[in-house]
Amino acid sequence: MARINCLKMETPKKVDEIFVLLKESRVEEAFNYIKSDKLTKIDCVDDHGTTPLQYAAFRGHEDICRLLISKGADVNAKTQDQGYSALMFAAIANKVNIVSLLLDNNADTEYTNVIGRTAAQMASFVNSNESVNIINSYISKESLEYYTECHSIDEKEPKLPRGECVDELHKLLINSSNYSPCRIIKCIKLSKNNTLMNNAEKIIRTLNAFSIKAWKNDSQDCPNDILSFKLHYYKYLFEYLLGQKSRLNKKLESSDASSDEISQKLFELCLKQLVSEEEISLDGEKFKHRVFEEKFLRESIRQHPYKEQSALTKQMVTILAKAPIGGYPSALHVINSCLNGQRFNEFFDSSEKGEKKILECATCYSKNANAKICTHCKKVAYCDQFCQKVHWSIHKEIKA
Ligand SMILES: [Zn+2]
Ligand SMILES: [Zn+2]
Repeated sequence: MARINCLKMETPKKVDEIFVLLKESRVEEAFNYIKSDKLTKIDCVDDHGTTPLQYAAFRGHEDICRLLISKGADVNAKTQDQGYSALMFAAIANKVNIVSLLLDNNADTEYTNVIGRTAAQMASFVNSNESVNIINSYISKESLEYYTECHSIDEKEPKLPRGECVDELHKLLINSSNYSPCRIIKCIKLSKNNTLMNNAEKIIRTLNAFSIKAWKNDSQDCPNDILSFKLHYYKYLFEYLLGQKSRLNKKLESSDASSDEISQKLFELCLKQLVSEEEISLDGEKFKHRVFEEKFLRESIRQHPYKEQSALTKQMVTILAKAPIGGYPSALHVINSCLNGQRFNEFFDSSEKGEKKILECATCYSKNANAKICTHCKKVAYCDQFCQKVHWSIHKEIKA
């Protein structure tokens, strides 16, 4: 290795100005430099073969990473001396937003560096646990496309239709750290041409097969229980919607409601049910709580087919067994922290005190920088009108 460095010193190459800017953390200048196309090459390298994207990924400059990718930077560039990819750099530095960004742009998770380690293995080595879990439970489009083909002679047709359905399902399954059922059902409702609800049965079969596959996890020696539970959880939500739909269909059989109208009613009904509140008393205090949602979420854990074997689900069950309904932590807290790969000790240490800068939606619990505060009471906030409308039935009671 030393010999190579010597050689490089004998014939010095001129490196691009961008590396000076990045090294000196002149982030805005670096951004504008790239934006005005001053890079000699989008994937130019420094004297270690590192590209600007890899450099920015390690430093956690998300905007620069986005810009570089939009300008065609190679997410999987293999020029780095030690064989480090942009994903490895982001994962080692535990820059979780960039890890997700790179994965969304087809970063190769199987690629190994000169010592034969993948990005997840490198991150694990330095205890970047959030990154490890994001990578390991990431759902690539290819992994869904697998189900658009038949894989055994018993299969008469593929589990999943090609095209729009795969695109919309992929969009649903990635890209959020909030597993609130309201948020997910809202996304299902907003899918293009209602394609997710129209293909609900096929999606359920796909998610089921995929969840089992993740549990068996043939490529590695231990089950991927985060991914397996995540897929099971989405399947559970689709089953809930489908169950409500058939109930609604029966009820509206004699009416002349169109399938579009039934769909609208379905989402309205389910979301209303999830935000509905009941009065409970806990530690001598009476208050209203989303009891249906809490029980609904606890049931999702109970229905996990591997709950006896999975360390993850066992842990969730143990924690929730000690937490009364309405107490801390809620099932959503537990599911969110598990699926985001947080360790439980961290999760319990994180105090809720202090000023919250980013508001949380009262309906879907999304942390939303653009959330709008209710103009009537100025006490709650919503992502948008959709979330406000869903919550209205309860909110007007509170105001009364
Ligand atoms: Zn209000
Ligand atoms: Zn919301």
